[in-house]
Amino acid sequence: MAETAKSGKERTVGIDLGTTLTKLAYVDHEGRPVIVPNAEGELLTPSVVVFTKSGILVGRDARREALADPARSVFNVKRQMGNPKWRFKVDGETYTPEAVSALILKKVIQDAEMHIGPIRRAVITVPAYFDDARRKATEDAGAIAGVEVLDIVNEPTASALAYGLTKAGDDGVILVYDLGGGTFDATVIEKKGNEFITLATDGDVELGGKDWDERLVNYLSDRFRKEFGDDPREDLQALAYLWISSEEAKKTLSRRDKTNVPVSYKGHWGNYEVTREEFESLTEDLLAVTQLTTEMVVEEAGLTWQGVARIIPTGGSTRMPMVQRLLERVSGKEVKAEVPVDESVAAGAAIHAAICVLHSDERMHELGAEAAERLGRIRTTDVAAHALGLIIKDAGTLQYRNDVLIPKNSRLPVSVMRTYGTAYDGQQRIILQVVQGDAPDPDANIIIGTADVTGLPAGRPAGALVRVTYSYDRKGRIHLTAEDQEAGELIATEITREAGLGPEEVSDQARRLSLKSIE
Ligand code: AMP
Repeated sequence: MAETAKSGKERTVGIDLGTTLTKLAYVDHEGRPVIVPNAEGELLTPSVVVFTKSGILVGRDARREALADPARSVFNVKRQMGNPKWRFKVDGETYTPEAVSALILKKVIQDAEMHIGPIRRAVITVPAYFDDARRKATEDAGAIAGVEVLDIVNEPTASALAYGLTKAGDDGVILVYDLGGGTFDATVIEKKGNEFITLATDGDVELGGKDWDERLVNYLSDRFRKEFGDDPREDLQALAYLWISSEEAKKTLSRRDKTNVPVSYKGHWGNYEVTREEFESLTEDLLAVTQLTTEMVVEEAGLTWQGVARIIPTGGSTRMPMVQRLLERVSGKEVKAEVPVDESVAAGAAIHAAICVLHSDERMHELGAEAAERLGRIRTTDVAAHALGLIIKDAGTLQYRNDVLIPKNSRLPVSVMRTYGTAYDGQQRIILQVVQGDAPDPDANIIIGTADVTGLPAGRPAGALVRVTYSYDRKGRIHLTAEDQEAGELIATEITREAGLGPEEVSDQARRLSLKSIE
């Protein structure tokens, strides 16, 4: 391993860490993205982890094993990223969402290494709408998995990159409609030559294929209960089976007009026919939410549908015919996936990873000269998916309100400065509450945490000026610096986040996980 590291032969990859499925890709000598199969020979690895009594399973085997042991299984951990309250306890051990995600990353990395050799660095994708806490949790998951996270890239930007390198990737405005297993976002991106500029983005981190499955789970359970008087949702195992058969039925309904779903519980067997029409009417309100968001994003970008040249559907759930119909109806344009909908995000992440290496002036040994030249010219610009605000006491109303410092959809990186006067003689510390969101009511926003500006020089009178700079970096992560205006010197500042792991916790969890193997 050390030998390979010295000769620079370790790979840099892109990973689409999805709610339901995870994919890993690299770029070949010609600069083309290639999705790497896992140990089971499949390109998509279910994001499922099961802690069996004898070891840890991830992927297809975990999905199967989860049916027998749902209490030891974790599904959809992406929905918990950035949630400080969520912990999974099993066999006396406690796992954070970051640690469970790290196990999924470890599995796809170790499997890919069998095909492409050692992997040292990765770009991991996140929904554009992920806030600071969720982005940090994703970066930490990579660190816990033992990989150097080169960058975090927005899923729609990755899709646009993958798409932009195909024949159809002409210049113009692209709308990326990304409906995956657990998240949805709509993003407007302008492609101008080698530049990909995000204009606006919005979405929902709690809307995805799972919600469509859930409607079927409830519908089938209600029918079963009506027929037999028992509810399969009462039993973890029966429910786990029902989720799987509902997802399968949903996929069948993308190809066929109707399907039959068997449901069994407490010795009863039911068999229910579901038509595509019924399924679509059960879920039309979910689709309507995506329509509203999509139309709003086009408007936020300052455009109408006429100004949108192409629509890129991405994410497995865009295979549902209702999605394609919706997009064609609202846009008046033909909608075609030029890059397979499940592969574009991982493919784009691999391209972005190559671009990061090339921009850092490092040689990328696996890339040919022509491809390096071509990819090296690409530039991407993202926007802030959430406004950044500060809670202040309004001088007029004396109520607390959110003072928006950086508006939503500002181009990244972005900084804004505010100057504060100290309130009393000798004040050495200023505490600021930082939030993401643009609602005036402080409670209607995502609380990032408290920024503590400490160590202001002693003995200053009230009104001494301190200049605070708030910024979003290119990854959409928040930073804060403060400067004593009189001395022109930086003052110590620290954001104590409501959510997220400290550096020691990250290295501690990395150490713990390095001792565990995935079967
Ligand atoms: P992704 O996170 O992009 O990999 O998308 C995964 C989601 O796509 C899951 O909810 C799947 O159930 C869903 N999905 C995959 N294939 C189909 C299909 N043929 N029809 C409907 N949904 C699908």
